[in-house]
Amino acid sequence: MPSPWAEPDFDDHEFVHFVTDRASGLRAIIAVHSTHLGPGAGGVRFWNYAQDEAAVVDALRLSRGMSYKNAMAGLRLGGGKAVILAGAERSKTPEMLAAYGRAIEGLGGRYVTAEDVGMTVGDMVAIARETRHVSGLPVAAGAIGGDPGPHTSHGIFLGIKAGVRRALDKESLAGLRIAVQGTGSVGGGVARLAASEGAHLVVADLDTARAESLAREVGGSAVPASDILGIEADVLSPCALGAILTPDSIDALRTPLVAGGANNQLATPDCGERLHARGILYAPDYVINAGGIINVASEYLGDTDPGIVKARIDAIPVRLDEIWSESAASGRDPAAVADRMARALIGRS
Ligand code: NAD
Repeated sequence: MPSPWAEPDFDDHEFVHFVTDRASGLRAIIAVHSTHLGPGAGGVRFWNYAQDEAAVVDALRLSRGMSYKNAMAGLRLGGGKAVILAGAERSKTPEMLAAYGRAIEGLGGRYVTAEDVGMTVGDMVAIARETRHVSGLPVAAGAIGGDPGPHTSHGIFLGIKAGVRRALDKESLAGLRIAVQGTGSVGGGVARLAASEGAHLVVADLDTARAESLAREVGGSAVPASDILGIEADVLSPCALGAILTPDSIDALRTPLVAGGANNQLATPDCGERLHARGILYAPDYVINAGGIINVASEYLGDTDPGIVKARIDAIPVRLDEIWSESAASGRDPAAVADRMARALIGRS
């Protein structure tokens, strides 16, 4: 068996827990990359992986991404992430969620969980019966916390506007063509916000009915999922799953700006350089998609001033501008610039 420490994605994770609960059938991985700035915080993904190895890599990459994301968002939190390995039938039972909650509780607050792909606010409520180290719970209207999706979408929308300002020298999205991959919680929100400013939306999802319904709602069009990355557009907003920016897909892009919410969009770090070499402006994913964690972290940290969430989300485009300015000055690609900034913040430069 190869040494886990030698795995490139391991990157000195503080700990990785492999959880099995035979009674409920739960199999989960809880990865905490860094607690330098506070407890490792990040969502839990419920996904059917083709191989267990893919789940491990996903957990590690997502967890490191959370360290970077929380640091760059100015939160007093470290980075962690969990994945629950769904069976092919994707059944998620209350017993499974309870076992997952007990596993979190056993970590004594070193990991704080929340929603990610495949998990709902209702699931967080079930988990919260077993542990208090959970966020993204239902809250009263206007209070801090709850579903992170709309906050993530809002931050991405602001980031897209900052990118459009920089790449296209335009103040508004009106009349621009915006391609959105993935029409779930995040992609749907981005599409609605962009449409409300007069953008023309082209959307795609593996779930074609979902994409078509969103297209109808925002007055845009739906295309097959296999076509979306090559669509000619002013902005490409990847809001589905990660590793979609590969050398081949980058060569086929027909957009000056990639700004979307999916975690870990770059298949490999050199893909950031490749985008840069093609003159495509890239918004580092963990910077632009921090709105949701800002919201749930503020809930977990007990912040009570709703203005604080807005101020932290409003800082996303400011942070992106810093990265792009540094990239322009140094010639390094924005993803590399962001990684360097983030590593300095978590004491790993
Ligand atoms: P979701 O499950 O609500 O929606 C994801 C959608 O993407 C689904 O409709 C799915 O069918 C679609 N999809 C998957 N693969 C696809 C492909 N190859 N082509 C087209 N569509 C595809 O998930 P979400 O909460 O909207 O999250 C989307 C992405 O944003 C994920 O990468 C997630 O990690 C990231 N993210 C989410 C949040 C949040 O607050 N929910 C925060 C930060 C980052």
